[in-house]
Amino acid sequence: MNVLLVFAHPEPQSLAASLRDIAIRELEGGGHEVRLSDLYAMRWKSEVGRPDFPSLAPDARLKVAEASGQAFAAQALTEDVKAEQEKLLWADALILQFPLWWYSMPAILKGWVDRVYAYGFAYGVGEHSDKHWGDRFGEGTFAGRRAMLIVTAGGWKEHYSARGINGPIDDLLFPINHGILYYPGFDVLPPFVAYRVDKLDKAGFETIASQLRERMRAFATTAPIPYRRQNGGDYLIPSCCLRPQLGDRAAGFGLHLNDAAGPRREASPRMNPAVAGG
Ligand SMILES: Cc1cc2nc3c(=O)[nH]c(=O)nc-3n(C[C@H](O)[C@H](O)[C@H](O)COP(=O)(O)OP(=O)(O)OC[C@H]3O[C@@H](n4cnc5c(N)ncnc54)[C@H](O)[C@@H]3O)c2cc1C
Repeated sequence: MNVLLVFAHPEPQSLAASLRDIAIRELEGGGHEVRLSDLYAMRWKSEVGRPDFPSLAPDARLKVAEASGQAFAAQALTEDVKAEQEKLLWADALILQFPLWWYSMPAILKGWVDRVYAYGFAYGVGEHSDKHWGDRFGEGTFAGRRAMLIVTAGGWKEHYSARGINGPIDDLLFPINHGILYYPGFDVLPPFVAYRVDKLDKAGFETIASQLRERMRAFATTAPIPYRRQNGGDYLIPSCCLRPQLGDRAAGFGLHLNDAAGPRREASPRMNPAVAGG
């Protein structure tokens, strides 16, 4: 497979960078081809603004989605954005790797999504009607491709458990897994999350490294998170609400997992097999 790894950490000697190199080596050793977007090294511009749309008239009001759609259709997006879109189209699989910062991704990576995911490319795709609300959540530009997060966190695994103070990790990552990856069509693999990494010793590092290698070896075959497809019949269209008779065994974000996958279980091998650190 062709794999694009988008990496967001400012320090080349960081733990994250070591794990990135381990992931790449393992993927390449398994016959995959990897391209890397190292956002800090690239000095990636994270904020969306008028300079992103050079063809917009100077006195025109900036409406970002509209300007994005027009620039995408006219192939008039900036070269840095076009290069990332070309990498995404080349890739059979996408990995986003980042340290958990304030319960989410670093701003530079969010800015990569904001700028690269243009209207007509990652959203605003497909027919919107009373029967079909766009090609999204299981359909879209990246349908048939895989995606996965590699995350390091300072907090303990227990802090991210079902009753943990931080909230369950699958809930915290839902806006990324479901909202950013599943939305434009990716099949989303369970994330690799390494916990309690800030005072990692050599043995702890080796444990995480070997768990990550294992995940990378299984990258092409790991079952994705069984999210429901928007246009697969489970949702009313156009309200996009889950049909009343579905999801009675689930709550919260768990509603959007197929019932057939069973009720949500904490740290089940299917949902969250990568639990280093703890
Ligand atoms: C702004 C900010 C917000 C944060 N918000 C959150 C949050 O919301 N939730 C949360 O849980 N955490 C949070 N954290 C903590 C953050 O997630 C961790 O600090 C980060 O994930 C650690 O990854 P790193 O690559 O920066 O580690 P580093 O600081 O580079 O390394 C961590 C440890 O790993 C060791 N190490 C590094 N490389 C190796 C190697 N090759 N071999 C052996 N050991 C190695 C280092 O010696 C060090 O002890 C936040 C941190 C910041 C700065």
